[in-house]
Amino acid sequence: MALAAGIKNAIRTGGADLRELHVFADNQTALRNIVEPGCYSGQMFTLSVIKDLRKFLCESPEHSITLHWCPAHVGVPQNEFVDQLAKSGLKRRSPDYRSFAFAAQMSTANMYQAWRAAPGNMGKNWLCPAGGFPLSHTVKSPLIANFGKLAASITARITRVVTGHLPIGEFRQKFNFDGPKKCLCGQPLETRNHMLFDCPIWKMREPDFTKEWLTTTATPKQFIRAVANFLSAHPLAGSFEMADAYKASEEENQTLHWISVGIFS
Ligand SMILES: [Zn+2]
Repeated sequence: MALAAGIKNAIRTGGADLRELHVFADNQTALRNIVEPGCYSGQMFTLSVIKDLRKFLCESPEHSITLHWCPAHVGVPQNEFVDQLAKSGLKRRSPDYRSFAFAAQMSTANMYQAWRAAPGNMGKNWLCPAGGFPLSHTVKSPLIANFGKLAASITARITRVVTGHLPIGEFRQKFNFDGPKKCLCGQPLETRNHMLFDCPIWKMREPDFTKEWLTTTATPKQFIRAVANFLSAHPLAGSFEMADAYKASEEENQTLHWISVGIFS
């Protein structure tokens, strides 16, 4: 950005007398990027400089630009002189504005800080891998990327499993909702742990799919994958369809023959 601003400034103030432009910098990447219109955070500045440079170079065959890389600027008198100038300029007037990138960075940092400081950021009843889920506000997070590859319905059900907000007996009892509290298998209270790890109705489980493995050993990715596998194998487990059917059958005082026959067979 500083290089871009310097080049633009030189072209603007050099006027008609400017024929040769020499740019000195100790940062190779910055020198390369200044004429590289690829995708990176300073792309807007580069495009703007390239536009100015093209105009300057097209004006006359005598016009040229030379990029110089100084491996280390310490001890180079010209560089020391420019450094001093820059420092004294900063002392004279500190900018009273913030760049958009800086504001966005601060906002993200503040969000992380507030999130980490919040005592219940993971929810005390959440089912989590050890250390909780990694925090990220972008889709680059491995966890979110993993979520992204799953169907939306599975993602929603995983979220319900993690938060405990499942349409099952335990949730209805906790929040005083109507509807059955016991499990279809006869267990007096249909809890999340019972549904995931014990209930004979949902019998297709991977060998290491236990509460202990999920909460102590599994990485966040393994955790998500294992819960997703369980939910995929049992599309009705903790589903609203199951809850509605169960509730309707209880209200009519019937047993869920159609479900139990299908599941137990
Ligand atoms: Zn059960």
